Amino acid sequence: MGSQDSCNFVQSSQGLRVSWKSSTPFHLIITESVPPEYDSAIIQAASTWNTRKSMNLIQVHRDNAYSGASTADGINGIYWMTDWASDQSSEQARTSIRWDISKLKEADIKINAKYFRFYKTDDTVRSGKVNIESLMLHEIGHAMGLSHITTSDSAMQPYLASSTDRNSPGQIDLNSLNCEY
Ligand SMILES: [Zn+2]
Repeated sequence: MGSQDSCNFVQSSQGLRVSWKSSTPFHLIITESVPPEYDSAIIQAASTWNTRKSMNLIQVHRDNAYSGASTADGINGIYWMTDWASDQSSEQARTSIRWDISKLKEADIKINAKYFRFYKTDDTVRSGKVNIESLMLHEIGHAMGLSHITTSDSAMQPYLASSTDRNSPGQIDLNSLNCEY
C-alpha cells in the first residue's frame, strides 16, 4: 500500500495516517487524579472539537474508578501528574497513543501539575498559569492522531504561552480532521 498525505496526522511505519477511523466517538475518561474543578474546561475542549467538526468525535466523562496512570489498559485516561521528570519540566502535558496498523487503540493524556499551574478561561488570576481548556484542546488533538504544526492559527502549535487563551482549532486543523473523520 502506498503512503498517504499526512494531513498533519501521526503516520504509521507504512506511511498511513493514524486515527480512530470509524470508531468515533472515542471515550475519554477524567480519572480520579484530576481536580473536579477542571471537569467543565476539559469537557468544553472536547465539545469545541465536536462542534467545529459538526461530528461526535469525542465523549468525555469522569470515572473515579480509574486511578493509576496506566499506558496499556485500553482506557483513554486523563491523568493529573504531581510527579514529572525534572529534565522534562518544560513539557506542559504529554499524550501517548497506541495503535494497531493505523487504527488507534488507546490515548492517554498526562498533565504536568508538578511544574505548571492552571487557570480556567473565566478566571481573572492567570499570570504565570496555563489555560487548562486550551491545553486540553491541544492534547485532545493529539488523542485524535494529530501531530504538531507551526501554522499560526493552529491549536496544534507546539508551544502554548502562559496566560494565553487558545480555545479554538484553526481552519488548518479542521482540514486535517477532514482527511480522516
Ligand atoms: Zn503537543
